[in-house]
Amino acid sequence: MTSLDSSMTILVAGGAGFVGSHLCDALLAKSHRVICVDNFLTGSRSNVRPLDNNRNFRLIEANICNPLEIDEPINQIYNLACPASPPSYQADPVRTMMTSVVGTGNLLHLAERHGASFLQASTSEVYGDPEQHPQREDYWGHVNCTGPRACYDEGKRAAETLCFDMLRGGRVDARVVRIFNTYGPRMSPDDGRIVSNLIVQALRGEPLTIYGSGEQTRSFCYVSDLVTGLMALMDVDPNPGVPVNIGNPGEFSIGELAEMVLTMTGSASPIVYRPLPVDDPQRRRPDISRARELLGWEPTLALAEGLSLTIPWFAQSIRSATKKAGRGRTTSQVIAAAPL
Ligand code: NAD
Ligand code: UDP
Repeated sequence: MTSLDSSMTILVAGGAGFVGSHLCDALLAKSHRVICVDNFLTGSRSNVRPLDNNRNFRLIEANICNPLEIDEPINQIYNLACPASPPSYQADPVRTMMTSVVGTGNLLHLAERHGASFLQASTSEVYGDPEQHPQREDYWGHVNCTGPRACYDEGKRAAETLCFDMLRGGRVDARVVRIFNTYGPRMSPDDGRIVSNLIVQALRGEPLTIYGSGEQTRSFCYVSDLVTGLMALMDVDPNPGVPVNIGNPGEFSIGELAEMVLTMTGSASPIVYRPLPVDDPQRRRPDISRARELLGWEPTLALAEGLSLTIPWFAQSIRSATKKAGRGRTTSQVIAAAPL
């Protein structure tokens, strides 16, 4: 089934998260029915609260590690359910690994029973600390399978394996997207990722934390570009049968990003340097030739444009949190708990 069909029922696992909630919005805007499955581990009920009164939206609180049955036909399943920031996926590494392996397995079986197409949110982390640059999909990667990042990287690699085995076996029309660092409104302010950390620190007038020298690089994609790419891969006919990188090839050092955030927020915060986490990848940039060829997709927003849409959202969130802090809690307690 393709997007040409006027209305489909689409399950989004992890739909209350940062990317997932934007995906739910985009699918509903195309008049699809959306079933969001989430256990709110790192996502937020408030990300999907505006959809409460949408009759095409259904929210199911569930953990994908438990077998799931849905009492209505489903045409497509997007699996975004997994903690995504290093601090959140390392907080309970066994759970993270199981979420990718057992959880993805459960959703693939659900897709098989419903004859639904399936899109797995994989990651640039499958390339580990890459020895090839930029990263093409035919690069097998350089992952330390016993290190602290392995619960995420190896879990996502195993989930890719499950998808391609189900596809080769003719059981599920499975697709795999390898997502590179993505940012935008609704990132959790306290999940420890670089863009949210730097913006929140700058806006609060706190020191900007750079881990290591700040020379390591990442390539940052604005969330609406990512969502367009996810839907393009899910809907392309025929199934390409290979993983596809989705990301913005603009490559920036973490030091450059910090300077941009300081300039764009007008903040006088100092920069402080902290130890580099173990196995932190040194360079990352997607080769997106495959997405261009197969999907006709490429990102449309440069980093400065995306930041100019993201910073005001965090500023507004901090203002509301600060207002609420007047009612008993400290600002940081409120911001940490804030349903942004
Ligand atoms: P996020 O933490 O905001 O969203 C993940 C969502 O999954 C949350 O709502 C969380 O509550 C839910 N979840 C986690 N475990 C679950 C479980 N067992 N059962 C049900 N729900 C569960 O993260 P995000 O940035 O929106 O990432 C979404 C997906 O994209 C993740 O799979 C992540 O690995 C992948 N990804 C994201 C990026 C990025 O830069 N944002 C990069 C690469 C890959
Ligand atoms: N990082 C940093 N300061 C922070 C948070 C992260 O310097 O406050 C670094 C981190 O060490 C990594 C890069 O920024 O080199 C991107 O980190 P993030 O956690 O956003 O994503 P990932 O490492 O998974 O790409």
